[in-house]
Amino acid sequence: MAVEPVFIATWRFGVPACLAGWQKLMAGCSALDAIEAGANVTEDDTSVNSVGNGGLPNSEGEVELDAAIMDGSTHAAGAVAGLTRTGRPISVARRVMEVTPHVMLVGGKAQEFARAQGFPDADLMSDESRRRWEAWQKEQSSAAVAHFDKTPDAAPAMSPDEVSTPDDHDTIGLCALDANGDLAVGCTTSGMAWKLPGRVGDSPIIGSGLYVDNAIGAAAGTGYGDEMMKACVSYRVVMLMERGLSPEEACIETLRYLLRKRPSDQHGYYGAALIALRKDGVVGAAATLSGFGAPDRLWQWAVIRGTGIEGQPASVVLHEGIYVTSDKIISTLTP
Ligand code: ASP
Repeated sequence: MAVEPVFIATWRFGVPACLAGWQKLMAGCSALDAIEAGANVTEDDTSVNSVGNGGLPNSEGEVELDAAIMDGSTHAAGAVAGLTRTGRPISVARRVMEVTPHVMLVGGKAQEFARAQGFPDADLMSDESRRRWEAWQKEQSSAAVAHFDKTPDAAPAMSPDEVSTPDDHDTIGLCALDANGDLAVGCTTSGMAWKLPGRVGDSPIIGSGLYVDNAIGAAAGTGYGDEMMKACVSYRVVMLMERGLSPEEACIETLRYLLRKRPSDQHGYYGAALIALRKDGVVGAAATLSGFGAPDRLWQWAVIRGTGIEGQPASVVLHEGIYVTSDKIISTLTP
């Protein structure tokens, strides 16, 4: 019997990605094709200034894109980091997976590979991202990297609102289950705005930004990658699901682990969020900080399920919350 397809993605801007991915799934395409199609929608949308074209640049005003993709059915993976001229890094990551013996290419050589594979050069800065970068340059303090004060002593004094500003980061993580019962996962980002040139976060790192085991489930993350990558968060979520935790419990436990490893932040002073999709179609998610410190928004993630009936529309459900500290669930909002 065919499996009911499911597609999930991080953030409100994951809604169009879910719709595009779901269309692929309902057309009988693989989870891998659905992930790429969904990610491309967000990468092409210049109004999303944390992913793909129009992403916010590094401290020198250059956009550097990171992405990875992983295919549950083959356990193959591909990744790129630091692409400066190609707006669809997830497609380049897929090409790395499919036409090279390697998993990850970075920087100028990754860009050369993209070009050789026929990806057209593009100027990734939008007018808005240029305007934001120029404004940041005028405002920047002595901090080398904006948004997060990395000095441990400063952390307890910070409130959630101080450690993050809206839209200066956010990644799209996507998980898909296709009608064959195969899983795939993807992650694509422009990373932390104003990052040091050459910085790579969690998003393109297999096991950190994303992971899939076709026999268990898939997971992907968004948030403060410099912390998340040290806890191999997506791998941990999948392993916890293997041990019997639900997708939601696995996300919560992983975030608690992450926070325990940095005691000064255990009340969630930085944003980290995870989504998970189990082999049987059950989904779950959690975050350390609602809206990543932006008071006017909530941590949200999007879910769409196939109806299995041709032509029958399905709608994307936006979920809000749960968010957690190291010792308690702060809130459970609408599922
Ligand atoms: N995880 C991304 C990074 O650290 C940023 C984000 O998702 O907010 O590059």
